[in-house]
Amino acid sequence: MAAICLLAARLRSVALLLLLAAFSIEAFTVAGGATTLPPNILFIFADDLTCQALSTYGESRHLLETPNIDRLAREGMRFDRCLVTNSICGPSRATILTGKYSHKNGFYNNANCRFDAAQPTFPKMLQEAGWQTAVIGKWHLGSAPTGFDHWQILSGQGIYYNPPMITAAGKQVERGYVTDLITDRSIEWLRQRDQNRPFLLMTQHKAPHREWSPAIRHLGWDGDRSHPEPPTLFDDFTGRSTAVREHDMGLDRTFTPLDAKFVVPPGIDGDDLVAWNAHYEPRNEAFRAAAPAGRDLVRWRYQRYMHDYLACVKAIDESVGRLLDELDREGIADETVVVLSSDQGFFLGEHGWFDKRWIFEESVRTPLIVRWPGLTQPGSHCDRIVSLIDFAPTFLALAGLPVPPDMQGRPLQPLLAGDPDAPWRKSLYYHYYEFPEPHHVRPHRGVITERHKLVHYEGDLDEWELLDRAVDPTETRSFHDDPAYADTLRELRAELDRLRHEVDDLGPVPSEAYGTAPLPEPPSAADRGDGAGQGT
Ligand code: CA
Repeated sequence: MAAICLLAARLRSVALLLLLAAFSIEAFTVAGGATTLPPNILFIFADDLTCQALSTYGESRHLLETPNIDRLAREGMRFDRCLVTNSICGPSRATILTGKYSHKNGFYNNANCRFDAAQPTFPKMLQEAGWQTAVIGKWHLGSAPTGFDHWQILSGQGIYYNPPMITAAGKQVERGYVTDLITDRSIEWLRQRDQNRPFLLMTQHKAPHREWSPAIRHLGWDGDRSHPEPPTLFDDFTGRSTAVREHDMGLDRTFTPLDAKFVVPPGIDGDDLVAWNAHYEPRNEAFRAAAPAGRDLVRWRYQRYMHDYLACVKAIDESVGRLLDELDREGIADETVVVLSSDQGFFLGEHGWFDKRWIFEESVRTPLIVRWPGLTQPGSHCDRIVSLIDFAPTFLALAGLPVPPDMQGRPLQPLLAGDPDAPWRKSLYYHYYEFPEPHHVRPHRGVITERHKLVHYEGDLDEWELLDRAVDPTETRSFHDDPAYADTLRELRAELDRLRHEVDDLGPVPSEAYGTAPLPEPPSAADRGDGAGQGT
């Protein structure tokens, strides 16, 4: 009974919030002052941050403690299956801003796409509705931010140490470590905001993106402990598609001297460089003396990778703690919705890989934690399939603004309220494009359900995979040609076909969508059309 009452109260609070926000901000300011304003939004966004690195997600390796992100989850709702639609940086960012798939917002890949800043985005709509809006950190969309009262972004991909940052006034080098700088600038902006209007602050970190360069204070954080290996570190891809076997993201073949910290990363100087060399050089010397090869080399690289990647995540966790503390200090924690997410997941050695791009779970699943005072039950979690396309509709609904009908996601509010009967999607459409560089991941599209995935590798390859997470949670087998899966295959093909119609991704893919080179064409145009008509 108590749970039902709690749920009813929470649903009432959703209705109240939507009702409140249906009025203009001006009306509320006049009527009641700051306490009646709609909630603020603090959107903390990382790059390549994956669930396996966050202790709140409880991965079996227990790679890292992230106490501040744990705190956020303890005070809010953790989404266990937030899936992206095109697992790569720029496209995910464009999808968040627009609420649309890549084929609708025009941003397919990181290689040759430039975000069409004239199209509608949720920050623009909030700004027009009276929100004060700011984005600080990584942008990486090729065009200048629009819809923001204030923006300060990294130049391009950004660098870890002493990064150049760009504002409307021009480019300037900032001294410090990138994660700390982005946090500092975000806090400074919060302190000078207009307290009579709600805000949207997007704090967008570069970390823990490749080349995974730690803050100096975190060098050696793990005491040179041996991080547990994933069971698929030496996946041999038996029975898998040509696409998977052709990858170029393996610790065995793709790890560069910069990845391994055999060369100094850009931007670092002075005392930081001295400390950097003092940490890495003795360990690199030991590596050269031992000259590991084969599996030993992969293992050494995995350990170096884990030290560096997880150190970057430690700094992200500290940033989250500082931002939450700042909301407390400002006395606005109760009126601020905090969202933590990333542009995709990342492989931490699973299948022998780093990077992302694939429809496979470590890559397609991204962290999402939402603390919404009065709406989310503290310490709750949700296992429904949500996606980056849902973010813009959620923020617009928060503000009481209409969700444009061409946005392809839906507001998360019923799930955030813990409504167990909320109608919700059972599957998600996925489409990745960038090929062949970098990492040689074949363009593929597919359908993801709670249990299965059906994947089609496009172009001249024309291969399929069917994954079953219930039977094979590490996704090392394809059941596509297994007769026992005939009915499942038929259902998944029908669902893929339905979703292609629903998201209107039926036409041929424009060749520029692949980025670095046109994709080899299939033998006939008919093969490009309908997923349900494909052979095995
Ligand atoms: Ca990314």
